[in-house]
Amino acid sequence: MIQITGHTRFGGLLGSPVAHSLSPAMHNLSFAALNIDAVYLAFDVTGERLKETVRVFRDLNTYGFNVTMPGKKHVMEYLDEVSRSARLIGAVNTVVNENGKLIGYNTDGTGYTSALREHGFDPKGKEVTLVGAGGAACAAAVQMALDGVKTLHIVNRKSRSADAAYALAQRINQATSCRADVAFLEDAQTLADLISGSDLLTNATPIGMAPETEASFLKDPSPLRSSLVVSDMVYNPRMTKLRRQAMEAGCKTIGGTSMLLWQGAEAFRLWTGKQMPVALVRERIFSGEDE
Ligand code: NAP
Repeated sequence: MIQITGHTRFGGLLGSPVAHSLSPAMHNLSFAALNIDAVYLAFDVTGERLKETVRVFRDLNTYGFNVTMPGKKHVMEYLDEVSRSARLIGAVNTVVNENGKLIGYNTDGTGYTSALREHGFDPKGKEVTLVGAGGAACAAAVQMALDGVKTLHIVNRKSRSADAAYALAQRINQATSCRADVAFLEDAQTLADLISGSDLLTNATPIGMAPETEASFLKDPSPLRSSLVVSDMVYNPRMTKLRRQAMEAGCKTIGGTSMLLWQGAEAFRLWTGKQMPVALVRERIFSGEDE
């Protein structure tokens, strides 16, 4: 139980919709477990109201806040500083309030690489095939590049937003030592060749998410081999078709729950300087789901 006192600090999640978010449960459980006098709430905020809400969060001496869609990009305009990785990603999901100075970070990226490390995969020096070029893909791609991935193949379907894949590859090539290139999902042979040469295959698209649980971008699983690690950012369902295909081929797989948990843990550490009790959160909030 959290005891609200005259000293209790607050923070929370800004975006829309937010009612479904697991972040309040994760952070409030962690505050209570570590006896930290703070609470985390969810606020449905869109459009122009974001600017005003950020000002109020600054003035009321909050510890900070998370930002989810649709404000992850334009919240950066209202902050005093933005971390290098968040600037490269082009989005902020966590803001720390340091005595009225607001500093933006992106813990989707660090959360993703922490999830990889938790499962024994160090990105340094590796070759990665990443499917998708949206917000989650950007965060993971940039952080993997900053953490030393050697070669990154960004695979997107041929759509208007393929430009986003090229722009992401260009930013990574300019700012990091990682070599990034772009391929198309429709080109099955190229995809198979890229997977064959990779250490990690990541799904950063909603393919396989409920209710389309029998969907996978991998029509032919033959390029999968046991030394490949396969990670799926989709966490509903926990066991996706892609992960099942990979497990059948003997691959180690990592589900989306880990990224969700670690992006929260990284935000918690930025706000409190303390480690989130990850095992407790996994047990209570994610029903003990491990990968
Ligand atoms: P997003 O910004 O909308 O990007 C989605 C990406 O997937 C785009 O590249 C999009 O390409 C592609 N895509 C969508 N539908 C597709 C299809 N049917 N076939 C091929 N490509 C398709 O979404 P996001 O925020 O990056 O999220 C992507 C996934 O990651 C979602 O399932 C989300 O739930 C999950 N996620 C998980 C976590 C976690 O903590 N585990 C965190 C964030 C996101 P187009 O531009 O061509 O549509």
